[in-house]
This record gives sequence, structure tokens and C-alpha cells, in this order.
Amino acid sequence: MRRHPFIAALAVLALAAPAAAQNFGGQPRGFTMENPVLRRIWAMGMDSSMLQTYAQVLFDSIGPRLVGTPQMDAAQDYMLRSYAALGITARKERYGTWRGWRRGRSRIDLVQPRLRSLEGTMLGFSPGTPNGRAVRAPVVLLPDVADSAAFVQWLPQAAGKFVLVSFPQPTCRPDESWTAHATAETVTRMRAQRDTLQRAWTDRIRRTGYPGGLSNGNIARRLDQAGVAGVLTNTWSAGWGVDKIFSAVTARVPVFDVSCEDYTMLYRLALNNQGPVVEAMAESQFLGEVPSSNVIAEIRGSELPNEYVLLSAHFDSWDGGSGATDNGTGTITMLEAMRILKAAYPNPRRTILVGHWNAEEMGLIGSRAFAADHPEVVTGLQALFNQDNGTGRIQNVSAAGLIGAVPALARWVANLPADISRNVTFGFAGSPAGGGSDNASFICSGAPGFGLGSEGFDYFAYTWHTNRDTYDKLNWEDLRNNATMVAMLAYLAADDPEHVSRDRRTVMPAGQGGAPGQWPACVQPPRQTPNPVER
Ligand SMILES: [Zn+2]
Repeated sequence: MRRHPFIAALAVLALAAPAAAQNFGGQPRGFTMENPVLRRIWAMGMDSSMLQTYAQVLFDSIGPRLVGTPQMDAAQDYMLRSYAALGITARKERYGTWRGWRRGRSRIDLVQPRLRSLEGTMLGFSPGTPNGRAVRAPVVLLPDVADSAAFVQWLPQAAGKFVLVSFPQPTCRPDESWTAHATAETVTRMRAQRDTLQRAWTDRIRRTGYPGGLSNGNIARRLDQAGVAGVLTNTWSAGWGVDKIFSAVTARVPVFDVSCEDYTMLYRLALNNQGPVVEAMAESQFLGEVPSSNVIAEIRGSELPNEYVLLSAHFDSWDGGSGATDNGTGTITMLEAMRILKAAYPNPRRTILVGHWNAEEMGLIGSRAFAADHPEVVTGLQALFNQDNGTGRIQNVSAAGLIGAVPALARWVANLPADISRNVTFGFAGSPAGGGSDNASFICSGAPGFGLGSEGFDYFAYTWHTNRDTYDKLNWEDLRNNATMVAMLAYLAADDPEHVSRDRRTVMPAGQGGAPGQWPACVQPPRQTPNPVER
């Protein structure tokens, strides 16, 4: 064999490093892994990561994965192709239907009293403007009415106009900025004034008789019936330039989210009788109830095929951004873990499954349907690892209320390299997830469903359900750490000579208002769109 200068350099290094490290480029600091499978998992996770490739195609080229949209189909097809390329068996497993919708173009411009392109987009599942053509109309405020009768009396005046229905934030500057730069007295007064205005706004909406939810659902529906041109909303996420983008419930007219800055400007223009007029267009298409499926991939167990390690991460997203951290990161973490496992541990003792769940955002529907449709997996579950809170390093692992699972988790974690485990805090015995993400769909049966909690990375303000949930926000080092960790945990759980015990904690933490804590109950998911909007 010809000696390459690089190989010679490695041989010198190897004198200082433990012999076991010679076959593998990198090895974690502070830990010598004797186990060849763990060494190979580490090397693959660190040196040949596919995370950026998967992320770039999914988030940039295909885009968000709202349930019922053609992009969801395209993204699921990409997952099937990716698994096929790895030689891993994967399938789309249909469990029900959801209302189909295709997002087209949308834009909104202020045209009076001056021209300005506004930062705005139609909400998910919004109707478009008639034939997708631009509509030019005045912008009006919701009136401050005495009661519902007065509101209904006012409604004819709103016909053909764009109506502002969200609270006009007094400041679109995040609180951190105020705290950093203003005097403490100013911050206190600003917050108090904002609270007063917010309460007054809630009252004003309540008096219409159509109190609103996240997107002022009821009131938007009533305005729709009254023949307005469109509904303008703002769900500010309390950070610079960031809004949460959910879905519309109107049957005929579009609902736009307009950025905090632009929305409040429209509000001030209308309030001061300066005659704001906007021109807006939106294209969308309703496709009726369409099939909805999970993507399931599998590496079959060689000794105990009816026992399962399940990697879990929801696949669907809201569609204001690309769903990069919610839950694109969980998605590519599990796909990458499967890629690593297929190479490093191709014949697992137990079956390793991955569930890329659909419709988590609509109420954990995909995972709940899978749990209901696959009692054999729930019964045979050795461990489920779910990740669903963004790009940060995994730092919280809980035994989910299963005291019987503590020794198993401790065994597995003791085998993780210190580079990974030193960042992790363990919650023993912890509590079962009651909702929030898909581990809840399994732990409700007492099956070992563990959540892997990541460092926050400004998730709730800046990326979770927002228009800024995009590729650029990802932290590749932490994601490599997470995929490597998940692959290691999956291997250790699948290979463990012992079966994970399901003994539960006997005393649960108190619930709301001090009520006795209960083990969360399983919920049967809807198999089609509940309360579809009449169109
Ligand atoms: Zn999520």
C-alpha cells in the first residue's frame, strides 16, 4: 500500500491516541469509546453529515409542509427518495384526510395616502381575492361598540373594505430592547400602558359578541359574511420583525397577516382619518379533502423484530416560513440518525422505526393515529425518542414518569461520549408529556415515550410558527451532536439485553390549581378535517 503523507501524519497521531481510534478520523474529547458501533456512529455523525443537504432541499427548494398542501406531498416524496437512496425501507402510511389547499401568490401595498409595499402574507388556508385579481379598498377599524346589536348594525359599513381586527401593539420593539436601553421607570410605565390598552382591546372585541382566538377566528368569519374585502391581522411574536402565521377560517375573503410595523401604521392612519387604502391580491385553491399520511421508515430487528425503538419527530409545519426549526430540525435529525444507523448498525437486535408524523400542529393527529393503528408497536415499544423544539443542543432528557425506565436511560447515557452527555440534564422520574408533541401519543399508554429537549435558541419568539423559521437559523454543530446522540441512543436501546420496564411513578406532580396530578389519557384523533368551513 502506498503511504500517503496524510496517512503518515495519522500514524504519528495514533501513537498518542488510543489504538481504538485509528480507524476513525475523529474521536470525542474526554472519552475513549471501546465499542466499535459507537465509534462508527460518532465518525459518521461528525465527518460525513448529510444534515445540510437534507435541510437545503427540504427548506429552500420544497418549502413549508402544511398538512393538506401539495408541498407536503412533495416533501414526503423527498423523504421516501432519501430513504430509498440509503437502502432503508420506507412508506407513506395513510391514516385519514385533511382539507387540501394550495398557496398561491399574495401581496399587499399601501396606495393612499402614500405608496408603500407592506410586509404581509395571506394566512394558511385563506381564500384568495376574486380570480386572484388585485382588490383596492379603504382600510377601516373595528368600531368601539356598546354591544353585539350595535356591531351588527355597523357591519354594512364594512362591506367592500379591509378591516383591522388585531390589537395594535403600541411598540414593535422587543421588550429586551426596552430593558437594555430605557430607564427602569420607562420600562415599567410602557408595560403598564400596554397592559391597559390590551385589556381595553380585549373588551372591545368582546363587546362585538364575536370574541377572537389566535387569528380572531369568530370575528373574521362574521366580517366574511358581511362582505368585507378582506381581514387584516397581526400576531406579533414579540421579537424584531417576527409574526406567527396560522390559518384563516373565512370562506370567501382573504385574511392577511401584516407585520407589526405595517399593521400598526395602517391602524394609526385609519384612527387619524388619513384615508388609508390598500391594494391586495391573493391566489389560492381549495382541493377538497385530500389523503393525509405519515412517513414511516424501518430497519427490521434481527432477534426481537416485534420490539421497537421509535425515532419520532413531526414532519408538518405552519407555512409562514419554511418550518426549519419546527420541526424541520427534528425531521433531519431523525433522517440523519437513520442514515448513520443503517451504516453503523445495519442488523439491529430490535426493530428501529422512524415516524415522520403529519398534522402534529393540528393536534398530534398523525402520531395519535399511528398509535391507534399499531397497538403492536405500542405494546412492543422499548423506547421512543421525540425531538421537536428547534436547532439547539439536546440538553434535557426525562424518564417521562416511568421510574422503571430510569436504569435503562442511565445505562444508555453512561455510554454516550462526554462531549454529548456533559450538556444533558436528566429528569428522573420526570413527568409524562400530556400534549405539546408526539411523545404524548405513546406515553399516555404507559409506553416509554421520551422527549429530547433542546436549548431554546430564541425558539418561541423568533422561529416557532413564525415567518422567520428558515434555513439560516440552524446551528449545524448542535444538529450534528443531536443526530449522533439520537443514533447512539437508538443503538443502545435496540441492543440492550434488558427490556425497559413500564413501572410508573405513584405520586404525580400536582396539576393546575393544586388538583391531584393524573397520568394523561390517550386521545382519539379526528380522521378528517373537523368543522370544515362552509364554502
Ligand atoms: Zn413542532
